[in-house]
Amino acid sequence: MKIEITTLKKVLKSLTITEVEELTCSECFNEIDQYVDMLREGKSPADVMPLVKHHITLCPPCREEFEALLVALEAIDADLE
Ligand SMILES: [Zn+2]
Repeated sequence: MKIEITTLKKVLKSLTITEVEELTCSECFNEIDQYVDMLREGKSPADVMPLVKHHITLCPPCREEFEALLVALEAIDADLE
């Protein structure tokens, strides 16, 4: 699953993506794993990383990355149960 996410990142990075606000897409990609981890731990990543929250709200490719990560991790959890 990790390999697929890395591949997805490369595909998305190869696209021409307009930078949104302060955070670039590549910076968002670097932080999205941590953002998802915090979300899954029941914390409020939007409070700690508001720029990431802001970016995924405005940037569809990064939002898809975020949602894909969330779905992938939930699928892994479901397999473990
Ligand atoms: Zn982006």
